[in-house]
Amino acid sequence: MSVAEAAPKTTSSLVTPERVAELTALIRTTSGETRTTISPMNGEPVAEIPVSSIADVEAAFAAARTAQEAWSKTSLRERKKALLRLHDLVLEHQDELMDLIQIESGKSRAHAFDEIAHVALTARFYARRLKKQLKPKRRNGALPLLTSVTVIPQPKGVVGLISPWNYPLTMAVSDGIPAVAAGNAIVHKPDSQSPLIALAGIELMRKAGFPAEIWQVVSGAGSVVGTAIIERADYICFTGSTATGKLIAQQAAARLVSCSLELGGKNPMIVLPSANINKAAAGAVEACFSSAGQLCVSIERLYVPEEKYEEFKTAFVTRVEHLALGAALDWDADIGSLVSQSQLETVTAHVKDAVANGATVLAGGKGRPDLGPYFYEPTVLEGVTESAECFAGETFGPLASLYPYKTTEDAVALANGGEYGLNASLWGKPREAKAIASRIKAGTVNINEGFSATFGSVDAPMGGMRQSGLGRRQGAEGILRYTEPQSIGVQRLMPMNGPSALQARTWAKLLTVGLKVLRRTPRA
Ligand code: NAD
Repeated sequence: MSVAEAAPKTTSSLVTPERVAELTALIRTTSGETRTTISPMNGEPVAEIPVSSIADVEAAFAAARTAQEAWSKTSLRERKKALLRLHDLVLEHQDELMDLIQIESGKSRAHAFDEIAHVALTARFYARRLKKQLKPKRRNGALPLLTSVTVIPQPKGVVGLISPWNYPLTMAVSDGIPAVAAGNAIVHKPDSQSPLIALAGIELMRKAGFPAEIWQVVSGAGSVVGTAIIERADYICFTGSTATGKLIAQQAAARLVSCSLELGGKNPMIVLPSANINKAAAGAVEACFSSAGQLCVSIERLYVPEEKYEEFKTAFVTRVEHLALGAALDWDADIGSLVSQSQLETVTAHVKDAVANGATVLAGGKGRPDLGPYFYEPTVLEGVTESAECFAGETFGPLASLYPYKTTEDAVALANGGEYGLNASLWGKPREAKAIASRIKAGTVNINEGFSATFGSVDAPMGGMRQSGLGRRQGAEGILRYTEPQSIGVQRLMPMNGPSALQARTWAKLLTVGLKVLRRTPRA
């Protein structure tokens, strides 16, 4: 029986002890310790999650290393088949997956479905492109005819995957897919708030045909279990806050292993003078409040031309006021809950601090304990001053601030302000917007969309500039990060330093002539 069928639909009765036992059996643990998870939907306990010890992490790496050797020898065709099966299984099991996402993260069902779609897109994309991305490639040799070179993307080995709670299915599975597809094994620590959904995703990977031992799961605090992973991994894929990302970068540097760090943002939207104001306002609602704003690429600051400011403000605020908040496992609510007390405290503090520093609340501005313990209304501010925490600092919640601008030059400068560079959104005529896009310091820029034009286009790399991270997920970049390009050169007929019978000076002269010829040969 799927979790979704286990009516009545309260979070406590949905996650049955049998189902929890099935899922938590996938965690490598011997400590005997557990930790209770709480659902943000209603504050009820969800499950007792076993905690792993350092010895468990050690054992996970040992098992992963053994499994990786065999896995790296499997054919790309076999991996492709498993990826396509995963695609189908995720769509087939979407009801249970969405239930678990909602129960552990509190988000609305529509926002939970975004994760299902993203995993399916990612599985299909890598299945179809695997051969092209991973096949050995010929490159130009130093001397035509004499030298040939082939580059082979070798798997790194065992990847340490540390994933967050906000997109708990896709940030776990979609980042893991290219790692195993490239021939690696994984030791994974999902966030302590959302282990069940990550485990349900991994269970589907196994059903799809990926060997169980190549994706090891451990559970526990980031500072303990996460650190133990970083101390052992051949590569680290981390998604989370900039503060933790910097810590991980230092630890990885000390071991000389590389990492991808998908971190925070303070993402801007510019409404250009040519924008259709109603469409921009509707797009802004989606861009700011998906997953209650707990989305790395969420828009938190909106720049609007002075002459269109009042019109945009009215259109945006009216839409925000009509958003339906709710905590049920159905499709009725537009927006769900925040994930935790600590998220609620951050959002509450940012709004209070902005108001104390001169801002005005245009919509929302308060918690909704009547709906669930951590609900907070989608909130719009204006008049936020530079001294307010939310002016440049990431809220990671349902809080958006409006600012008028005079010229497009001003808007670009404002959007490029601050230390982050993850995502940006531009609304207006595509030709005008495209000309501005390349001037924005952000890893992704979406025109007439908030974030999904790039995030959903899994063929395109996604990640941050500046304090928003290092490396990219998605696209060829997203799989090649998990590989070491190995160059294999073959020399024929004579050595690189010339035939042994020739004096070095003679060879240098000959080579000088040869290089001059090559300089004039366009394709050499
Ligand atoms: P966080 O950094 O506190 O935690 C993220 C993960 O790291 C968790 O699994 C946690 O247990 C682990 N962790 C914490 N401390 C660790 C340590 N010292 N060593 C190893 N692992 C450790 O982040 P959070 O507050 O839970 O998540 C929200 C943040 O994540 C926001 O800043 C958001 O912008 C960012 N985020 C970024 C992206 C992206 O793709 N750029 C996506 C989602 C979230």
